[in-house]
Amino acid sequence: MLCHFFAELDLTEPHLQINSLGCPECRPKYRQVLKDFLKSRIDKLCDDCRRRIDTNPLRALDCKAAGCKEATEGAPSVLDYLCHDCNDHFAKTRCHLESVGTSYSINTRMVRGLDYYTRTTFELVTGLLGSQSAVAAGGRYDGLISDLGGPSLPGIGFAMGVERVALLLAEKDFRKRPDFFIAALGETAQAEAFRLMSGLQQKGRSVEMDFAGKSLKSQMRRADKFNAHFTLILGEDELVKGSAALKNMDSGTQTDVRLDVDVLCKAVAS
Ligand SMILES: [Zn+2]
Ligand SMILES: [Zn+2]
Repeated sequence: MLCHFFAELDLTEPHLQINSLGCPECRPKYRQVLKDFLKSRIDKLCDDCRRRIDTNPLRALDCKAAGCKEATEGAPSVLDYLCHDCNDHFAKTRCHLESVGTSYSINTRMVRGLDYYTRTTFELVTGLLGSQSAVAAGGRYDGLISDLGGPSLPGIGFAMGVERVALLLAEKDFRKRPDFFIAALGETAQAEAFRLMSGLQQKGRSVEMDFAGKSLKSQMRRADKFNAHFTLILGEDELVKGSAALKNMDSGTQTDVRLDVDVLCKAVAS
């Protein structure tokens, strides 16, 4: 669902990373192995990681401190300690992703500090926002509902950083060619241009116009800048006769069209 979401936004970043944290049966074994590993190089760990070595050793794997990064290089992988069922579950998860063509990488250092996480964890990670950063992160919460006092029900969830998504979108050029630019000369023509713009927008057309009362020449320059498909040129004479020149900005041809929203829509569609 998240990958589809980013594809819908037409973003090639972020990339999917997955890992499995096992279950209450196999994770304690891994924790113990990791704890022993960390204790063997405790002098390289930061104060936080030393403090939580007994309570939350997994966190050392995603600690940002340089010493911890170095110390945990070559740390035992959680995937080597999965029980049979967790191993099977992770293999099936990978199969499903592959069957729908979702590319991913496995990041065995992706951990969670909370015990209700079980098995699959995932992150959507990008390198476009400085250092590798997660844009969205989540996983299975099979233990959460029962932790909260409810029945034993599986669950999944994720959190997404809206600002980070916005930053990724800002890297892209979203400017689409407007269907129309309306160049209007004089106040009455501007009022009519505004009325037409609103009507066209309600029909799903994108429209730009000038609100500053610029000269025709400068408005035509703006139409070029917007790269509009069509430009409608409105002056006092056009208002009187109820029609105006519609210029196809690609071919340069002009046709006289009635100042009517439906007629204008049809002219663009043909
Ligand atoms: Zn397990
Ligand atoms: Zn640390």
